Parts: sequence; C-alpha cells; structure tokens
Amino acid sequence: MKAFPKNCYTYILLNLFAVSFRCFSDPAATPEIRKDVQLKIDQQYPSLEALYKHLHAHPELSFHEEQTAAKVAEELKQAGFAVTPKIGGHGVVAVLRNGEGPTILLRADMDALPVKEETGLPYASRVQTKNDKGTEVSVMHACGHDVHMTVLVGAARVLAQMKVHWQGTLVLIGQPAEERVGGAKAMLAAGPFSHFPKPDYCLALHVNAKLPAGTVGYVEGFALANTDQMNITIRGVGGHGAWPQTTKDPIVLAAQTVLALQTIVSREIAPGEPAVVTVGSFHGGTKHNIIPEEVTLQLTLRSYSAEVREKTIAAIKRITRGLALAAGLPENRMPIVELDEESTPATYNDPELTRRLAGVFKAWLGNEKTRREQPVMGGEDFSEYGRTAEKIPICIFWLGSIEPDRVKESERMGSTLPSLHSSLYRPVPEPTIKTGVIAMTAAVFDLAQKK
Ligand SMILES: [Zn+2]
Ligand SMILES: [Zn+2]
Repeated sequence: MKAFPKNCYTYILLNLFAVSFRCFSDPAATPEIRKDVQLKIDQQYPSLEALYKHLHAHPELSFHEEQTAAKVAEELKQAGFAVTPKIGGHGVVAVLRNGEGPTILLRADMDALPVKEETGLPYASRVQTKNDKGTEVSVMHACGHDVHMTVLVGAARVLAQMKVHWQGTLVLIGQPAEERVGGAKAMLAAGPFSHFPKPDYCLALHVNAKLPAGTVGYVEGFALANTDQMNITIRGVGGHGAWPQTTKDPIVLAAQTVLALQTIVSREIAPGEPAVVTVGSFHGGTKHNIIPEEVTLQLTLRSYSAEVREKTIAAIKRITRGLALAAGLPENRMPIVELDEESTPATYNDPELTRRLAGVFKAWLGNEKTRREQPVMGGEDFSEYGRTAEKIPICIFWLGSIEPDRVKESERMGSTLPSLHSSLYRPVPEPTIKTGVIAMTAAVFDLAQKK
C-alpha cells in the first residue's frame, strides 16, 4: 500500500496523473504490476508443477472425477475462495468476491480419456480402470485438462493475492465430463448462474498440440464446431449367401449408403460452408456365407451453423431412407437413424470480447506470442456457457503446449506432432502453465479493472 502524500495538492495531481495514465495506457497494466504477477507465478511455480504432475499421474474418466474434483476444490479453498462441491455431478464452483465490478467465470475441465499413455514421461499415468461398460481401460490426460486445472489454481492464487489490482467477482468452475459432453449441461442445469453470481463474461483455455509453449492463440466468432454422433442401423432381410435373391442384402445397401452420404458435403452444402460427414465405423455380418439382418454405422458430423447442421442431418435421413426404398425394403425395415446424446453445439467466441482479450495478451505476452488461429472442427461443451437464456459473451482461447524446438523440427521435417487425444501427446509444463496463468490473470485484470 502506498502512503498518502502529506501535501494534499500533490496528492490530487498524482491522482489526476494516475487516472489519465489509465485512460491512455495500453491494457497491459503497469510494468510494475506485470513484474509482480510474474514474480508471484515464479514463486508458486514449483508447487503448481507438482500439482500438474500429480493430476497427470492420477487421471479419472468422464463422470468419475471424484478425487480430481476433491483436489481442485481443496486447492481453490486454500487460495481463499468459497467452494461448493458436487454441482451437476462432480462439478466444483469457487467464488471470490472483491467489491463492485463485473463477474467473471473461468472454467477448467477435469476429465481424462480412455487412452494408454505412451509418452515415457517419469510422471506418466499408469492408471487402469473399468469403463461404464465394465471393460478394463487405461486412462490418460491426453487432452491436457490437467494443464487447465493447474492454470485455474495458479490464476486463483495470483488473483487472490493481488486483489488490490482488480475489483469484481470471480466464479471458478471445475467442470466434469467435457469429453462425453454431459458436464457443462449438467452443471448449468444445476444452476451456477442462478445460485451463484451470474457472470458477465465466461473464459476458458484449451491446450493446443501444435502451438509452441509460451504462446496463445485466438479465434473470433465460430472457433469450434457443432459435433454430432449418429448411429444408423441399415436393416435388410438375411439369408444364405448363395441365395441372394431371397434376401435384401444390408451389406450392399450400407455400402451404397456410405458412398451416397459423401455427396451431402460435396453436392448439397454450399461451397465455403464448412461441414464434415465421416462414417467412422461399419459393422455387419458374422460369416462368409450368411447375409446378415442388419449393418450398423457410426458417424461423426461437424459444422458451424445451425442451418448446415440441420440440413446435413435431414439429408442423411432422406438418403438412407431413399436407398432402402430403392432396395425394395418394406416400411417396417426402414433404417433407424439416431442422434447420440453426446452432441455439442458450436463454440462461438464473442468477437468484441475476443478482440479485447487478444489486445490484452499482446500487451502482456508480446505480439509474436499472440496468434490469430483458424477455427477447427473439434468440439467443446464450453459452448453451452454462451447458449443459456442470459446469452453471456464467452471466449475460449488456445494455450501453446509444445517445446518450441519440437515445433520447429516438425515444421522443418514436414512431420506432424501427436495431436490431442494421442497416447504420445506430451505438453511441456514450463512455460505452458506459467503462460496460461499470465493470460487468465491479465484477462481478469483488464475485464475487472480497478476503478
Ligand atoms: Zn478432448
Ligand atoms: Zn479437451
């Protein structure tokens, strides 16, 4: 705390100078504040890295994040937040009130994936468990949600320690089940916007498997896609493989269907409108000489706009039914088309908020470390936070996570680095975690500026 200057006149002049400096300064806060943030992060980095390695070595599958949620809750409590566990399953909500000002929600997801880690890291996961179907699976934080939680805790500590530099309310969310998409919906249904302070902005970050550690990336507008999983059962009339005339062969019909579905994106959706129709699984039959009763297909669909999504789904229904009719199948053997519950709507980054944050990141991290990125066709249920009745502006940004030398080498060799969800995905803790904490802290300092 600064002492009051004895001379009142000088005090007024100093204040006028401070106000005008704030008005005309960039959003970087003062160099002293930035230095102080850096110092605070450096001081706590060893414990953050230890937390990261602990979370990495103890991953839990979606909807089973019990120990992870308890750890996040404990850390946020220790940082000085009022913590409420078990919101919408294993969800954690942590609140810190710091006077009049906007309410900012920071979200980190907590679940891991059924992937066997092959990174060879000393803190690699060796966890095995049974999935919901009772199958033994290995578990790995292959999507970097362990980084997200560590950054959330780091930002919580810094922001609590530096309350004097911002004013408003923070709502921190540890969200379960992002990978299976139910987590955000379950938490929002449990009412974080009604039972806790309603946010003015919602922010999140996600590690990026291509960007170098120390950088962040941003996308204005649609950043991630509508993702839909679809199951199709192509039904036929089974029989002996040597008497095809007595059957309606669902293998042939399914093969025709897969090819016909490829015309949706190429012939029905306007060029320039992104869309994906991928048939990722095709199962039918048991033996060489038996024509089966049915074939099952599993599809993933991606798009940005609601119109393209609906048009694609309608076209799939029309084509599958049309081909079944052409094969001469009766009405009671028409294909069954089902949309899986694990669908998520496109993530729309509020352009104004995104531009503002990009400016803040440039000021704190540097222009060359703040990169405009292209939208991708991956999905994120963070989109749900911007789709409630309140229509809160949201922004999710990328956090570079790969050693810069590895990125350069892969560019030089023309090779691809392991993607997210790969058993070989290996984020480098430093400076990834530090950069994430700086970005989140800077965002809050700017959005909740001290008046
Ligand atoms: Zn993922
Ligand atoms: Zn993820």
